Amino acid sequence: MIDNLEITRRVQEALPWIIEKRRDLHRHPERSGKETRTSALVVRTLEELGVEVRTGFHTTGVAGIIRGSRPGRTVGLRFDMDALEMQELTDHDFRSEVPGMMHACGHDGHTAMGLGVAKVLSGMREELAGTVKLIFQPAEEDAQSGGGAQYMIRDGVLKDPDVDVMIGMHLWPDLDLGAVGTRPGAMMAGSDPFIINIRGKGGHASMPHTAADPVLAGSHIVTALQSIVSRNVDPFAQAVVTVGVFRGGTRYNVIPETATLEGTVRTFDEAVRLQVRDRVIAIAEKTAEALGTVAEVDYRLTYPPLVNDPGIYERAKSCIQDILGPDNFIEVPRPAPGGEDFAFFAKAVPSAFLFLGYRKPGETPVQPHNPHYDFDESALGVGVRVFLRCALDLGKGVSA
Ligand SMILES: [Zn+2]
Ligand SMILES: [Zn+2]
Repeated sequence: MIDNLEITRRVQEALPWIIEKRRDLHRHPERSGKETRTSALVVRTLEELGVEVRTGFHTTGVAGIIRGSRPGRTVGLRFDMDALEMQELTDHDFRSEVPGMMHACGHDGHTAMGLGVAKVLSGMREELAGTVKLIFQPAEEDAQSGGGAQYMIRDGVLKDPDVDVMIGMHLWPDLDLGAVGTRPGAMMAGSDPFIINIRGKGGHASMPHTAADPVLAGSHIVTALQSIVSRNVDPFAQAVVTVGVFRGGTRYNVIPETATLEGTVRTFDEAVRLQVRDRVIAIAEKTAEALGTVAEVDYRLTYPPLVNDPGIYERAKSCIQDILGPDNFIEVPRPAPGGEDFAFFAKAVPSAFLFLGYRKPGETPVQPHNPHYDFDESALGVGVRVFLRCALDLGKGVSA
């Protein structure tokens, strides 16, 4: 039985190597779905460690498989690999060497943690029950293309061996360095955009009776959409409906032919998500019709709400408390309003998503997607320790 002190010792020993990998990845950021160098580095490193490698999952996705010495469950650990189209403004000597691309969401750290888990765990096969599948995922940031997670699932990443349970983690500015947090139930928002095109009949502003006014119809639609949260959604559930764009018309004395609305919906529960979608479509179509116009709604379900399984949450919580000490587990009070495509894994198998703190006492942490984004690399050691404890415990096959 490997104890926490030994895990911590081995991770500390591996930390300079993990940091070196992170800085290599940081210097060479790649856009969503085009993580070819990153993917090759992951494959090469896993092979050097003697880890079984599979590729061919949605563009650049990679799976590493570590089989334990005893039977047990298959635990999936997920690490995202993509960067963002933005110019880095830090003065690190390992800053981005690619103009206009930056690892500003910490996915370089996530990928390096995956390699760190592979390095330490491949030397612990004797202690491991079950199998650990390390899932290196492309295109987390690209919600418009549907993200990478659902396509890796389509391409069979959760099969052979079949993944029973999953853990994911994201570097998080609102928790202290050394702490890891999570919560039961909703963890991050579902985020779905919509476009409403309203077609009317143009005419002279002085003769509205000969026209069908799409600006008037759009105005009623914007107002009526606000009834969804106040009149349709359960008061104890949460949702946001925002119209951010209202486009229509070219002149003060012309009734235009068309108007366009664009907006976004955030929800934390799948049933509420579908309820809001159905209401947006019905309100837009029926309101437009009542006013003599026609609305076409392009409503996209992109990332679903990320919901933690209550049983896996409990297991993850006790793993975190065990390896980091009780004070370094934080029960996160509210779900975060951002989207995260780990949600697709969490819909497929019982899962928990964890936040890895990097806030330092007395300092204001730099938020993700900021050109000055940065985190203390010792957080990576904390994350690897938690991943290892979760993998070793969840693999044992005690029912979740
Ligand atoms: Zn991001
Ligand atoms: Zn991210």
